[in-house]
Amino acid sequence: MLFNTTIFGPIRSRRLGNSLGINLLPNNGKICSFDCVYCECGLNKDGREDTKLSTREEVSKELEARLKELKSSNAVIDTFTFAGNGEPTMHPDFKNIVEDVIHLRNTYYPDAVISVLTNAWQLANKDVVFALKRVDNNILKLDSAKKETIQKINQPVNPNFDIETLISQIAQFKDNCIVQTMFVKGNGIDNTTEEEVTAWINALKLIQPRLVQIYSIDRKVPIEGLVHVDENELREIEKRVKKIGLNTLVTP
Ligand code: SF4
Repeated sequence: MLFNTTIFGPIRSRRLGNSLGINLLPNNGKICSFDCVYCECGLNKDGREDTKLSTREEVSKELEARLKELKSSNAVIDTFTFAGNGEPTMHPDFKNIVEDVIHLRNTYYPDAVISVLTNAWQLANKDVVFALKRVDNNILKLDSAKKETIQKINQPVNPNFDIETLISQIAQFKDNCIVQTMFVKGNGIDNTTEEEVTAWINALKLIQPRLVQIYSIDRKVPIEGLVHVDENELREIEKRVKKIGLNTLVTP
């Protein structure tokens, strides 16, 4: 399912509350540096027709118009969330758009936070890192600490994908980041095994995020055979994260 507008919602998010979405990707196409088997936008090959990105000015104008409407109807917004049809940090003007959103948030909904959902694979770009340090919830994906599993779950587009690079780039944020991990099984994939969880816990020890979000699939996914990991298993994984002193949020 694609989000067909630049600004969408607010929608009720299980993890973020009332979330006003900001989609920096095409309105009718997906662009991402990963191609996750569980992506709600579908696989990359199925959404490449529309490649037009909104400009910084268009995003700002549309957001402000929507905020005026929402204010006049007394709507509640807990978070402005960069998400949508792919990877938001791939927009070439991401850094400046974040500054515009901070300004508009301060003007219209000063109590709301700004969240970015990112796959963390653009962190060699200093502008992206700068922008992610400016937002309240810098939410970085780490579904496994093992390259072969990332290849299966997230299917990075770049053939030079390197898991050590990904982990060390995430670690630069220290407690100014949230790690989100999707646990999933089926179709030859399982990131809940002892070996997987041990490697992932070791990566978390290095990263020291301020929160670890643990969840599993809850909507239609583009690949057949993937199954939801049940709450008991997620809670067992959570216990191991708590043991190393990190905060957790499980969304069963
Ligand atoms: S990183 Fe996000 S947008 Fe990209 S394929 Fe994965 S789930 Fe979809």
